[in-house]
Parts: sequence; structure tokens; C-alpha cells
Amino acid sequence: MQDFEHIVLSETGLKLRRDVILSAYSNFRIGGPARFFIEVTSLDQLVKAVEVACQHRFPFYLIGGGYNLLFDDAGYHGLIIRNRASAIKYLPDRGLLEVHSGSDLQQVIKHSMSSGWTGLEFLAGVPGTVGGAIYGNAGAFGQAIGEKVVEVLAFNREKQFISLKQPDLGFNYRYSNLKKNHQAILKAFLAVEKGATKEIARLVKGYLDQRSSKHPPRAVACAGSYFKNPVMPDGQRLAAGFLLEKSGARGMRVGQAAVYPGHCNFIINLGRATARDVQELARCLQEKVKENYGLWLEEEVIFVPANASML
Ligand SMILES: Cc1cc2nc3c(=O)[nH]c(=O)nc-3n(C[C@H](O)[C@H](O)[C@H](O)COP(=O)(O)OP(=O)(O)OC[C@H]3O[C@@H](n4cnc5c(N)ncnc54)[C@H](O)[C@@H]3O)c2cc1C
Repeated sequence: MQDFEHIVLSETGLKLRRDVILSAYSNFRIGGPARFFIEVTSLDQLVKAVEVACQHRFPFYLIGGGYNLLFDDAGYHGLIIRNRASAIKYLPDRGLLEVHSGSDLQQVIKHSMSSGWTGLEFLAGVPGTVGGAIYGNAGAFGQAIGEKVVEVLAFNREKQFISLKQPDLGFNYRYSNLKKNHQAILKAFLAVEKGATKEIARLVKGYLDQRSSKHPPRAVACAGSYFKNPVMPDGQRLAAGFLLEKSGARGMRVGQAAVYPGHCNFIINLGRATARDVQELARCLQEKVKENYGLWLEEEVIFVPANASML
């Protein structure tokens, strides 16, 4: 549709950008041009952008911070909506934080720390937005955000506002039902308790210190752990990094994509990696682990093909 951007402008007042290079919006620093791109800074704009795309059946894909994504070398053929709708409010009568989905998770942690709300410390250092974290049930140190999500306000493809309670979201290891249903998360209500600022700060620092000893520094281009930790038939979860290391992943690379020397479950972009490099390396790693352990590692990083759509 040639005049989609004019339709969007006249129906919503939102101005789309054209041919925006997606590598600038993914921490992997990989990805070709998006045909259309918009950054929304309020829930009203987010709803309008999703609504107009649904109304005109124009393919769109919603992103947060781009910390868990691998964009296609061919870019994206529809509209990328980057969510930066950000607000944090404490609801004292319910003991909940009401957070807009484009809020930076680390800002939420900082805010909680300075205001004395405890419960979210384990998420310190997990980059990205609240919406992205809920979508993939982000977690660390044996806990995940889904445990803290009491309710989510979402906007669906039928252009309806819906309230989803924790059981509706089907949280599991790096999974929520949003992966199946493709609803846009607008707001989340997170359970917190009153705590002592000093103790919260101590916990946050402890988690950040543990992360910095294992994870690549922020300047390294990657999208977090590449594979999920697989579950054995007896329910035991194995560390993908350990399996990869024991299978000889250390030092492997394809083109400009390489296994991070400090932790084999991170694939990093050495500078000019393509999505194809990353996917080929990932495939080699999967095959190595399959040979050694008979297990096929599943990707945690989300590949966004040029023709993906949340319609
Ligand atoms: C150095 C590093 C360390 C990391 N450590 C961890 C870790 O410890 N634990 C962990 O779980 N992850 C970790 N990650 C991965 C990443 O931080 C999380 O997955 C994070 O929650 C992604 O958020 P995002 O806003 O960047 O989402 P994006 O990467 O932008 O998007 C991810 C998915 O969420 C969907 N999405 C985003 N916003 C919305 C919304 N509002 N409504 C509906 N769907 C939405 C997108 O469509 C996409 O499919 C790490 C990544 C890096 C780079």
C-alpha cells in the first residue's frame, strides 16, 4: 500500500518514518531497513498505531528496547512500532506498581529502590522495557517477572482493550501466552511490598555484581542468552552455557558472529555480523550439542523475519 503513511497521518496524526535501519534499534546491531517505523511515547499513540495497522491490515511488529531480537538482514516489510510509552505510579491501596509498557525496566528498579518498594530486585540488570520483559517472562536467579505480574492491560487485534490476570497469561520459563496471542501490552500492575531502601540497594548491588562477572559488558552487541536452558525428562533444567562449553563451542565463529569467550550461551556481533552469520553459528552450536548430549537447544533470542506480522 503506497499511501499507508498518508492514511496514518490523516487518521491518527502520527508521522511515520521510511527506510529506517533496524540495526540501530537492536542490541545485536543487526538488521536492514524497515519500510515504515514509528517511535511512540504515550499509550494513546501506541493504541493509535496498532489500531490503524489492524484497521488497514498492514503488517506491523511491536518492539521495546530490542534487547532480545535479531532483525532480518532484509529488514522489515511493514511497520515497526517502537514503544517508549513510559510512566510509573504506586497504588498504595493495592500494593501495586502501575507501569506503562514502554518503561525501561532499570528505571522501574531504580524508582523502586529510591521509593522503598521491594520484590523486583532480581530483575536488576535485565535490559529492555516492561512490555518486552512480560512478553518473554524475563527472569534471573531463579525468579521471573511473571511471578510479580498481577494484571496486564492489553490491546488486541480486534481493537479491544482487555484485562488479563496472571493466570490468563500462562507464564512459564521464558514464555507467556502473549507469544501465542500477539496482544500489545499497554500497562502492567506489578506486586511490590514496602521495604527498607538500604536493604533493596544491597540486593540490587548483589545481583548486578553477579551479572557483571558472567555477562558481556553493555557495549558488547548481543541479545542476551541465545538459547533456553533445556529441561530433562526428569524435569531438571540444564544450563545451555555448560552444554555448549562441553561441546566445544568456545572460540567458534561464523563470519562476524562469535561465541562470547566469557559465557558460551552468548552469541556476539564482532562488528559487521549479519543475521545470517548469527543463525549459521547458532545452527552449528545446536548440532554440536545434539551430537554430544542428544538435546536440541531452542532459541531464546527472537528472530524477526522481514515478513513477520502481529496482525
Ligand atoms: C546483556 C543482556 C543480558 C540479558 N539478560 C537477561 C536475563 O538475565 N534474563 C532475561 O530473561 N533476559 C535477558 N536478556 C534479554 C532481554 O533483556 C529481555 O528479553 C528483555 O525483557 C527484552 O525486552 P525488550 O523491551 O528489549 O524487548 P524486545 O527485544 O524489543 O522484544 C522482545 C519481544 O517482546 C515483544 N514485545 C515488546 N514489547 C511488547 C509489548 N508492549 N506488548 C507485547 N509484546 C511486546 C516483541 O514483539 C518481541 O517479540 C538480556 C539481554 C542482554 C542484551
